[in-house]
Amino acid sequence: MKNWAANLTYSSARVEHPRTLAELAGIVAGEPRVRALGSRHSFNDVADTTGVHVQLDLLDDGRPPLDVDPATGVASVRAGLRYGEVAPALHAQGRALTAMASLPHISVAGAVATGTHGSGDGTRSLAGDVVGVELLTATGEVLTLRRGDADFPGSVVALGALGVVTRVELATVPAFEVRQDVFTGLSWDALTENLDAVMGSAYSVSVFTSWFEPDVRMVWCKSRVDDGVGAAPTLPTGLGAVPATRAMHPLPDVAAVACTEQGGVPGPWFERLPHFRLDFTPSLGEELQSEYLLPRSAGPDAVRAVRALGERVGPLLLTSEIRTVAGDDQWLSTTGEDSLALHFTWRQDWAAVREVLPELEAALLPLGARPHWGKLFTVPVGELRGRYPRFADFADLAARLDPAGVFRGGYVGQLLAG
Ligand SMILES: Cc1cc2nc3c(=O)[nH]c(=O)nc-3n(C[C@H](O)[C@H](O)[C@H](O)COP(=O)(O)OP(=O)(O)OC[C@H]3O[C@@H](n4cnc5c(N)ncnc54)[C@H](O)[C@@H]3O)c2cc1C
Repeated sequence: MKNWAANLTYSSARVEHPRTLAELAGIVAGEPRVRALGSRHSFNDVADTTGVHVQLDLLDDGRPPLDVDPATGVASVRAGLRYGEVAPALHAQGRALTAMASLPHISVAGAVATGTHGSGDGTRSLAGDVVGVELLTATGEVLTLRRGDADFPGSVVALGALGVVTRVELATVPAFEVRQDVFTGLSWDALTENLDAVMGSAYSVSVFTSWFEPDVRMVWCKSRVDDGVGAAPTLPTGLGAVPATRAMHPLPDVAAVACTEQGGVPGPWFERLPHFRLDFTPSLGEELQSEYLLPRSAGPDAVRAVRALGERVGPLLLTSEIRTVAGDDQWLSTTGEDSLALHFTWRQDWAAVREVLPELEAALLPLGARPHWGKLFTVPVGELRGRYPRFADFADLAARLDPAGVFRGGYVGQLLAG
């Protein structure tokens, strides 16, 4: 079995799709090595195992797939559901999540396990909306950890290392509408001199670039209609950008049919915050991805550093995206403080990408970069450990819940072996 981008063949002997919690518990109790697999959208071996994979797409735990507590607004959802299934069901009940990733195709448990995020100065990663997780541990115990519990900050961005998450509790807010406006023609000088202002010019802002063209390619602004009173953001045009004259895809020369509606048409949050629509293939498919998250204070230097490498990285790129994420308190969060995210969608040429990643990392690591847990990087695991002040607490939690290392595999096994 391969991952979504087909750049990785998993090492597992088989994949199980348990239908009940008892079946799931039987697999975990009977196998020396098990790992939960989400929708397979990670680009590296974060989800891999030499044992048995479990996917929760058929799991019925006897409770409703999605259940919103009217008193608190907290939604309890089956962990194997995809955001594209959860979001419209929440919207139908007048509720919303604060953030969505670029694609709604990913599973809730798999997305939050790697710190998946969207963009927005005021929005945290998807893990930031999680207020509780229920997981089956290696000992067969069903454990619920909620915000306020001592181990909770280790339990959401957990790389599948603590057990199989069966339910996730998500904080929700009242549903809201968003408009999406795309601008072109922003010069590099205007961006670098006004980086914070551009990134803060709407609820969620994404800048697409190849790093070596004279202008950045596009600025995508997603504005809440309620706080912007329906007006298009004015900053990009104030800096010389112009509104796009047609719907755009993040990748050049790809038709925008797979993209959520643009052109300033207001719509529900879950049909504007992701770039891609659930019923179409997101992005390209034949691609690789890397991403580095940096403290906001290092943002301008990081942008200048990658721009200086533009001639090296540009020819290997399909596109690159600059986003922002508000900080959260998960021990393994790549966005433990307000962050700038530098994302790279590469042509599917691993031999060439593997050559350039160390150059990128040499430029970005001294600025405090943390690689996205689910994308491609060459940073050694020892170096990764040192980037997380609470890593020892996470390793201790993993050892307590999984002393025999049932849930260790892929690079996560190496990470926890030190
Ligand atoms: C086209 C594309 C666009 C993307 N866009 C974004 C983006 O906008 N922002 C971003 O941050 N990332 C993005 N990503 C990366 C992606 O969101 C992450 O890799 C995410 O982790 C994938 O979720 P998944 O459900 O496919 O999990 P998988 O890749 O299957 O697994 C990821 C991790 O989750 C664990 N896991 C899965 N299910 C469970 C469970 N039930 N219990 C415990 N652990 C579990 C696995 O063990 C593994 O460690 C994108 C990827 C693609 C392919």
